[in-house]
This record gives sequence, C-alpha cells and structure tokens, in this order.
Amino acid sequence: MSTSDTLVEAHSAQVALPPGQLYIDGQWQDSTGTDRRDVVDPSTGRVVMTVAEATAEDVDRAVQAARRAFDSGPWRTMSPRDRGAILHRAAQLIQENAEELARLESLDTGKPIAFSRMIDANTTAEHFSYFAGLAGAIEGATRGIRGPGLGYTRREALGVVAAITPFNFPMILSTSKIAPALAAGNTVVHKPAEDTPLTALRIAELLTEAGLPDGVLNVVTGGGAVAGDALSRHTGVDRIAFTGSTKIGSMIAATAAANVTPVTMELGGKSANIVFDDADLDEAIQAAVSGFVFNTGQFCMGGTRLLVQRGVYDQVLAGVVAGATHVPVGDPLDEGTVVGPMAGERHLQNVERFVALVDGEGTGRIVAGGKRLDREGFYMAPTVVVDVPNDSRLVQDEIFGPVLTVQVFDTEEEAIALANSTPYGLAAGLHTQNLSRAHRVAAALEAGLIWVNTYGILDVALPFGGYKASGYGRENGPEALDEYLQTKSVYVAL
Ligand code: NAD
Repeated sequence: MSTSDTLVEAHSAQVALPPGQLYIDGQWQDSTGTDRRDVVDPSTGRVVMTVAEATAEDVDRAVQAARRAFDSGPWRTMSPRDRGAILHRAAQLIQENAEELARLESLDTGKPIAFSRMIDANTTAEHFSYFAGLAGAIEGATRGIRGPGLGYTRREALGVVAAITPFNFPMILSTSKIAPALAAGNTVVHKPAEDTPLTALRIAELLTEAGLPDGVLNVVTGGGAVAGDALSRHTGVDRIAFTGSTKIGSMIAATAAANVTPVTMELGGKSANIVFDDADLDEAIQAAVSGFVFNTGQFCMGGTRLLVQRGVYDQVLAGVVAGATHVPVGDPLDEGTVVGPMAGERHLQNVERFVALVDGEGTGRIVAGGKRLDREGFYMAPTVVVDVPNDSRLVQDEIFGPVLTVQVFDTEEEAIALANSTPYGLAAGLHTQNLSRAHRVAAALEAGLIWVNTYGILDVALPFGGYKASGYGRENGPEALDEYLQTKSVYVAL
C-alpha cells in the first residue's frame, strides 16, 4: 500500500502512513496478528490513526531482517565515511520534512508545535548529522606490546540493536539511539511507545529514501507486554537501548541478563533545581517555571523539586506561582501555546492521584493549579505545592506531569543533602553568581547532568544519562558511540 492511500485529517495536519502496518526490511508489511491500537490526539481525545499491535512473530521477523542486513548486507562492511554520507542525507531529509514531522509529533503527544519544530525536529536531524560526522572518526589503537609482535585494536559493531523508547520525546529518544547505532555499523529494530508511534514510522521511510539498505532499520509498533517483551527476550538481539521508567527498565535488564545481552538504561528522574540567595532571581524564576512545565512535565529531567534558600524563598515562590498561573496552556497546534495537554488520559489520572496526596495538615499546600482543566482533551493545570515533607511521595517519586514541590533550605550543605535525597540521579540545576560555589555544588550533586544558571538545555555533543536509579550508559556525545561498539584486540607475530 502506498503511503498516500490513507490520509487522515486531524487539525490541519495529515497523517500519511499506512494504518496497521509495520516497517520491516525496507518496506511496509502486514502484521501477522489482527490486533490494532488507536493513536489518539491528546488535545481532543480523537483517534487519528490505527497501528498494528505487533506479535512476537512480527518481532522475530524484524530481528531476522536486521540480522540478515547485519550479516550479509553492505552496511557493516562499507567504509564508515560512506555510512556517514547516508546519515548526512538522512539529516537533510529530516530537515526538509521537519514541518510534517513536527506536526505528527504534536498530534501524537500534545507537544506545542513551536517546540516540536524548534526542539524535536531540529534535534532529530542533528542526531544524524552529528553521528554521521563521528562515523568516520571511529578508530582503534596500536599498543606497545612485549615481544616481536604488532598489537592493535579494532572497534567493531555489535550486531542487532533493540531500541525501546518512551512516549514523551518519540523522535528525539529514538534517534538518540538509532543514529549512533547506525553510525557504528549496527542494524536496529525499534519499538516506539505504544501511544506515540507515528514519527518512528515516518523516519524509517525517510531513512530508506536516504539510502539506508533494507533491513538496517525496522520498526515494530505495539505494547510493551507483547512486542516489547518479545524484543527484549530475543536471542538475536546484541544490545538493548532502553529509555523509560525505572520499573520497566529493571525488568528488561533482568530479562536481558539471562541472554547476557548488554543494556543501556535511560530511566526515571526527580531532579532538584537549587536557587541560592545570590542568584539572578529573574533568570532563576524563569528557569524554575520552564523546568517543570516544559513538555507538560513529561520530561525525565524536569526540575520538579525546587529548593530555595530562605532569604529569597518568598520572592522566588511568588514569581514561580505567577509564572505557573500565567503560562499559556492550550491547543498544541496554536503557535503561542507553551503547555499542551498530557499525552493521554492515563498519564493525567496518574498526576491527579499524586496531587490527591495533598490532603490536610502536614501533607503540603497547593498554591497554584491542582486540577485538570475543564475542557476537551487531557489538560492539567501547572501545579505548585509547598510545605511538603521531604519523605512525601510527592517529593520522592517521579510524577511525570506539571507538578512542582518547593522546599526551603538554609545552608549549601543542606541544599546538597536535599538534592541528593531521592533514589534518582538524572539531572540537577543550580543558580548562583558565586563561581566557586557553582563548581563545588556541581561536583557534589549525584546526577549525570548539571545545569548552572539555566535549566533543561541539551546539546548533542554533551553526553547524558543517569546516576543511581536513573540508569546507566550514556547517550549523545562521542560516549554514545561506545555503547554500540566492541573492541577486538589483534596480536600479529612479527
Ligand atoms: P515505560 O517504561 O512505561 O515504557 C517505555 C517503553 O517500554 C515503551 O515502549 C513500552 O511499550 C515498553 N515496555 C513496557 N513494558 C515492557 C516490557 N515488559 N518489556 C519490554 N518493553 C516494555 O515508560 P513511559 O511511560 O513510556 O515513559 C516515561 C518514563 O520514561 C519516565 O519514567 C521517564 O523518566 C522515563 N524517561 C527517561 C529518559 C532518560 O533519558 N533517562 C527520557 C525520557 C523518559
């Protein structure tokens, strides 16, 4: 079926993808099963497309295609610079189709279109151009060895990579795996989140157009319990790159351990954002608001625990409450929208359950938001809670919605202790004009990424990943390539 056969109109966007089909071996293929899943526009609750629930047999077919493409295809053996040229072309095609991809992403996730365009589509293209450049720089080393011999190392691809990704940044978090995995010469089977599979399917088509050989990138849609489970158990998979919740990640790591399959785990977060009393307060307040409302709080690195030094607490809280109350919430396809709906009803209900924990003396006080909005779609008002005990689930657990707790501290030591007091360690922010304090606190925070005097900015050149229960392995930067390469030593007798 050609992609133009089915056009489903939603808002002004068009989804030009064949419903119910999987992308395997460079072409659209029917699922072996009959189960389908509706993809819903979160701003209206309306179905925009139906996708296949891939069966274990479909997953096996995709892994076999990836295996064939790895073992006998030209991808692994071609010059890394030629691989890079195809990935550069992919970056170019993604830029040329950025508007369509951004609209699909907004339709699927509820992300404001301005962000989908500026952040999601651009970053996706940049993943390909950045790793295209690094492909040609993959190199081994010669080593001074004992005896009359030559010792050198080769950096080799692993084989078939399984990429399993979450709903909140579908394009970015899939291509942060796919681009370095392909640059290193691997082949990939991608299972996007069940709720948000649209851009994954379209990107697979674009990569074929860019010249990627058949079977090098395959996409199977569907839920975690069947498709995800079948993929993470498959003995034909040589690495699993997972982004998602700590709960599912630890299950997958246990499954993978049985096959001795290495895993990369990008998991949950509960990041602290610290405001010292010498900070530029306008900047800090702005960063605090955007740090928790960005992507409607469905941001693994969201600054959801604001820690404020006592002397500026009242002023910062007032600024944050004003910002949270006035931030433009609305239709994701309106250019002026900053906060869209949550990605689905189940995500919104989960946030409501957390907010319901604020229930009387000693459980906190809501000073902004606190309710879902009385309109069509899955909208939650940006919510600010104060006076919450540090051991409350509101402070310790990942809520994954636009909910901020604000706590007060007196000393630098206390701020560090509070910041490090959850099981997570994904990111943290700090705001101060004191240079020594900035570096001292950055070193003391137990998190994989620290922002000083800003919050939430990512760059493809800087690695990110978790400490503690936020996972292990790194994405972005040259470090990401290491996850998809293995080292072989060669000893040549002379
Ligand atoms: P999730 O863990 O529910 O799902 C992630 C993926 O795993 C989905 O594709 C899902 O279908 C699949 N899955 C579910 N059960 C499975 C199973 N038994 N076997 C194999 N796969 C299975 O996560 P989510 O709700 O989609 O995303 C939100 C979570 O992701 C949050 O915890 C967030 O912090 C985390 N996240 C982390 C990062 C990071 O970089 N560390 C980035 C974004 C999101």
